[in-house]
Amino acid sequence: MKVFKFGGASVNTIERIQNLAPIMNHWANEKIVVIVSAMGKTTNALEKVVDAFFAGKKEEALLLFEQVKQQHLTTSKYLLVTNYLACEAQLKDFFTEVEWLLHDKPVRDYDYYYDQVVCAGELFSTTIVSAYLNEVGANNKWLDIRDIFRTDDDFRDATIDWEFTKQKVNEVVLPELKHYNIVLTQGFIGATDENESTTLGREGSDYTAAVFANMLNADSLTIWKDVESVMNADPKQFSDAISIPELNYNEVIEMAYYGAQVIHPKTIKPLQNKNIPLYVKCFSNPSLPGTIIHNKPVHHLPPIIVLKEKQVMIEMNSRDFSFIGEQHVGHLYHLFEKLHIKPNLTQNGAISFLSVLDNWPEKIEKLAFEASAFLDVQVKKGLSLLTIRHYNKEIVETLTMGKLILLRQQTPETVQFLLG
Ligand code: ASP
Ligand code: MG
Repeated sequence: MKVFKFGGASVNTIERIQNLAPIMNHWANEKIVVIVSAMGKTTNALEKVVDAFFAGKKEEALLLFEQVKQQHLTTSKYLLVTNYLACEAQLKDFFTEVEWLLHDKPVRDYDYYYDQVVCAGELFSTTIVSAYLNEVGANNKWLDIRDIFRTDDDFRDATIDWEFTKQKVNEVVLPELKHYNIVLTQGFIGATDENESTTLGREGSDYTAAVFANMLNADSLTIWKDVESVMNADPKQFSDAISIPELNYNEVIEMAYYGAQVIHPKTIKPLQNKNIPLYVKCFSNPSLPGTIIHNKPVHHLPPIIVLKEKQVMIEMNSRDFSFIGEQHVGHLYHLFEKLHIKPNLTQNGAISFLSVLDNWPEKIEKLAFEASAFLDVQVKKGLSLLTIRHYNKEIVETLTMGKLILLRQQTPETVQFLLG
């Protein structure tokens, strides 16, 4: 048994959805659970719907939602022939659910509404993809994952109830796999014991797929992406980025930690626990080897480069030239926790404490304000943070040449530069 996950980019045009058919046909004799994300930028579009609704702009919310509806109806119209009417009927049921809610006035908190609306993106996309695959002979069973993935009610960051969900996977998914080779469902979403929809955090579909792989003891998980494999740098930033054919779980966790947009960091643990290999493959060219990620040690990795732009450095100095000690640092970390700030780099000196953060203006303002009660605070924006794992002298020289280095931190594995 295998688990496949198709991200939003792999289903964002008619041609791309059509491209799923040969991929599924290639594995026609396998049992496969397929997880599909919302199409393209649908999640972002639905976030705007929630924003408008929560701001009390009902008409605007309905108008924005109308655009999302039309996009999905148009896609299904072009894609489907025999299954169009059934697909349209199912889509319209989901549309109605959201519209009912949008006609109300917000009385609960934002995150609750976010999840009730945003979850629709994956329900729409899977309805269409399932109908299409059934029409072209890749017979599949569509399931509403909200009947399977039980979560707590920590909306927008829900935690899976592992025991309950595992039982449901056994009761619902396994029997379907006896009748169908493909079970197709959503990533990223779940439901509470009161049947309220929940989401697992942005980009959470990889994680859903990994949880399925774990619970089903799958042979492997394949994440289909619009890149040829995991690369040693973002090809949009570095045109000479190269493919990495093999990685181990730990390296992927490290890469994600430093900000590489490879795989959602939560994805690895459920796979690692059961030693399930993860393949990253290119959906537009499945014959490319892609990347395998597993438990084995991998030697001779190329330098792996992560460049984070728009970084903000906050420098905090003691007022009276007293050392920055555990009391200050403890206090600062307490503020990070309170404001949900995860610094990308910190450095403690005699009378100063530096931290480098992503540019979240509101949080930075609050942090600067609260810290200024006991330290002098200076904020510097527009910096970049360069991280190189498995570095060598040559790559360090090439990437920092002519740049103003504000800070350097180094271990035998990893070097980081804050560049001005
Ligand atoms: N559709 C969700 C998002 O865009 C989840 C996912 O694609 O992983 O964040
Ligand atoms: Mg939680």
